[in-house]
Amino acid sequence: MTFVVHCAFLDIPGAQGVLASFEDLTHVEQAGQMRRDFVANVSHELRTPLTALLGFIETLRGPARNDADARERFLGIMAAEAQRMERLVADLLSLSRVESEERMRPTGRVELTGLIESVLRRLEPVARTGGVELRRHLPEGEVLVPGDEDQLRQVITNLVENAIKYGGAGGPVEVGLVTPDEIAGLRGPGARITVRDHGPGIDRVHIPRLTERFYRIDSHRSREMGGTGLGLAIVKHIVNRHRGRMRVESEPGQGAEFIVELPLRT
Ligand code: ADP
Repeated sequence: MTFVVHCAFLDIPGAQGVLASFEDLTHVEQAGQMRRDFVANVSHELRTPLTALLGFIETLRGPARNDADARERFLGIMAAEAQRMERLVADLLSLSRVESEERMRPTGRVELTGLIESVLRRLEPVARTGGVELRRHLPEGEVLVPGDEDQLRQVITNLVENAIKYGGAGGPVEVGLVTPDEIAGLRGPGARITVRDHGPGIDRVHIPRLTERFYRIDSHRSREMGGTGLGLAIVKHIVNRHRGRMRVESEPGQGAEFIVELPLRT
């Protein structure tokens, strides 16, 4: 904890002494620390692919100069590293945008049944490549919520991509949408989107930290799967902007379910 003590000496008739007041600067200190951690994390995340790229450039200029096989292989790795940096920069920009817009209520209306269907259709080839079946449990009719279509598309995309990446090997990924009359905490009817996988699940100790920037349970696996560690942080800010809630239910070994609830009314 950090406190600043302000002192004033009083010397007026009937009131002599020292007047002291305390100002709690703990939150300012914490915000500063978070900013420093974030910059350190971003630098580290960018430096890893950059170091690899520079290393391969040196090798291609030197020992591998006349080795056509090695050149092909190294260029493939370099392209993958450059794509990793590109994804990171794109996610950093998304995060910065959703953070700055968090206080501005979205003004549009979004139809969720069609939106989920279109995201699933777009991710179908990725899922098929990983041998993952995408199952839908969607209502017949339209479900309209106040919102920003691009941002809600990003929420559904990030959750389904994660379910494919981390849980897909264990069975199908199931995406559901229901509209309960009452959702606790939302005061009134809402739309509940669920993304369930049958993978290894998530230990309880990690759940509260999943939406922290760059928090990964297994960094190696995340990087291998092309993750930036920012997907769920982006989801959290978008859901907050829509006055919704997100929670995760999981038992290790039993898969994970990410649940996003959005109000149906403004
Ligand atoms: P990443 O880019 O690493 O996927 P995210 O912010 O999307 O970053 O997710 C943070 C971490 O949460 C991931 O690195 C992974 O460890 C964990 N995670 C996310 N979704 C799942 C899931 N469906 N099953 C198991 N772990 C998950």
